[in-house]
Amino acid sequence: MEIIFATSNLHKVAAIATMIPPSSNIIIKPMSELGISEDIPETQNTLSGNARQKSLYLYEKLNKNVFSEDSGLEIEALNNAPGVYTARYAGPQKNANDNMDLVLNKLKGESNRNAQFRAVLSLILDGQEHQFEGTMKGLIGYEKRGKNGFGYDPIFIPEGFHYSSAQLPVEVKYGMSHRKKAFEKMIQFLLTKYSK
Ligand code: IMP
Repeated sequence: MEIIFATSNLHKVAAIATMIPPSSNIIIKPMSELGISEDIPETQNTLSGNARQKSLYLYEKLNKNVFSEDSGLEIEALNNAPGVYTARYAGPQKNANDNMDLVLNKLKGESNRNAQFRAVLSLILDGQEHQFEGTMKGLIGYEKRGKNGFGYDPIFIPEGFHYSSAQLPVEVKYGMSHRKKAFEKMIQFLLTKYSK
């Protein structure tokens, strides 16, 4: 069974492909393999809404089984901002350093550093939508530390660690990531459904 991933990020496609047991008949393909390379609109004000918007967009184009993913950082002391604005928090240039500086500035003098990354997957299977969610809890540090990873990793300290995500080996961070947890739920759902 083929499912088309609404993303142009081939790293995400490769990452999910490693989670599917080789004995299953589930095949995940990037939308580029079906000739779609455009930026899919994401104009909703929730991660769930954006994920649904992206999967519906692709479903309407292809009329096949599809899924999409939207993720963001939610900071308790900032009323769960940046949320859907995570990638472009400090402006449309989508610059990770600018975004981190803005967060550190907004949290100056704030002792509540609780935050989480949240990923929402929207799967459209036989025309019906199903959503799956994964979170990674942690704290926002007081400075940028480390060079691994991407995005907000240098200022995000996962729960149970003293190091930032950018100081941890990528496999360690990936092993507990919000995206991985959401992907695992979706794969489990598909395996259960198709092993019946
Ligand atoms: P996307 O939905 O995967 O594109 O993620 C939106 C934004 O959230 C990215 O541009 C990153 O800034 C941030 N982000 C998502 N996941 C992570 C992560 O694991 N580490 C650091 N930043 C992340």
